[in-house]
Amino acid sequence: MVPDIQQEDIDSVVSVLQSGNLIQGRKVAELENNISDYVGSKHAIAVSNGTATMHLILLALGIGKGDEVIIPAFSYMATANVVEIVGATPIFVDIDIETFNINTELIEQAITSRTKAILPVHEFGLSCNMEEICVIAKKHNLIVIEDAACALGAKDNNKMVGTFGMAGSFSFHPRKAITCGEGGIITTNDDLLANKLRTLRNHGIEIQNDKQEFIEAGYNYRMTDFQAALVNNQLKRLPNVLNFKNELAKIYIQNLQNQQKFRPPLIPENKNHTWQSFHILTKDKSRDLLIEILKEKGIGTNYGAQCMPAQKYYLNKYNLDYKNLFPNAWAAYTNGLVLPLYERLNFSDIDFISNELKNV
Ligand SMILES: *Cc1c(COP(=O)(O)O)cnc(C)c1O
Repeated sequence: MVPDIQQEDIDSVVSVLQSGNLIQGRKVAELENNISDYVGSKHAIAVSNGTATMHLILLALGIGKGDEVIIPAFSYMATANVVEIVGATPIFVDIDIETFNINTELIEQAITSRTKAILPVHEFGLSCNMEEICVIAKKHNLIVIEDAACALGAKDNNKMVGTFGMAGSFSFHPRKAITCGEGGIITTNDDLLANKLRTLRNHGIEIQNDKQEFIEAGYNYRMTDFQAALVNNQLKRLPNVLNFKNELAKIYIQNLQNQQKFRPPLIPENKNHTWQSFHILTKDKSRDLLIEILKEKGIGTNYGAQCMPAQKYYLNKYNLDYKNLFPNAWAAYTNGLVLPLYERLNFSDIDFISNELKNV
């Protein structure tokens, strides 16, 4: 994946560097306004990366030792790691093999008296069934936190992800639709939470009567102004980027459907996929062998995300029988393949890759 950094983006970074105001200034404030407008949240709080966003949300909500947080078994490891680093216990739930998102029907049976939150991940840029998840959360008095790291602009029933739960978390890592290298942002409608997040990201500082007071043992999770400038420009182009990626994805789906070797992703009704990754399942050849074969043809592919309970740290600590407990997460981890899909590709690139894939 090649980030699409254009001259206007570079110019805006240079002008911040020349301004002398490098951290959390005007450009960060602008970014926070732009994101809350775009997503439709009351607040947006920019921080240093997507993992820091989730770490701060959990801290600010007081989730920690003795608490359980429900997460999908298949995601990027950061989702489980943030739960672990605040001292809470991640409770893994298997995914739906058609969407690669948490299987909504399995959530309720994972809830115990210790459960504090549900943390669904909009995997590969496709929204989870957020309305159903919010109904379950309400019934059991749980907090919903959306890991929308790779889903800026994704919608469920025309409502933007990042606005369903108590807080939404987005990343600006180079693998995401818009990037500033390292960066992240939190969306929330809750005034108290927003304040707490702003304080925690900046050494525990709150301004009281025009004076800095250190009211928490805070972190330094601030974003720089030149990073904010970089994403501000890309955000303007995002709707076009998402449309174009959707056109590319449609060609892949047309080319790869109804055949024995691969299963292209399915898109449920009423959802807008943002195609962070175009993730297919291989049905005959080993996925790792396919990656090698395609590499020799000059096509770069990779696996999509981890079956998290199968990774060393989690296996040592929780020793879960992951192949039986989370068969879909295991299948997606072992048979899933991400095909190239980014702005700098064109329709004939997609045809070329599809044909090479069908011929291996
Ligand atoms: C990228 C990603 C993260 C981590 O974001 P960083 O900005 O790299 O820290 C977390 N969760 C998911 C689902 C991601 O895709």
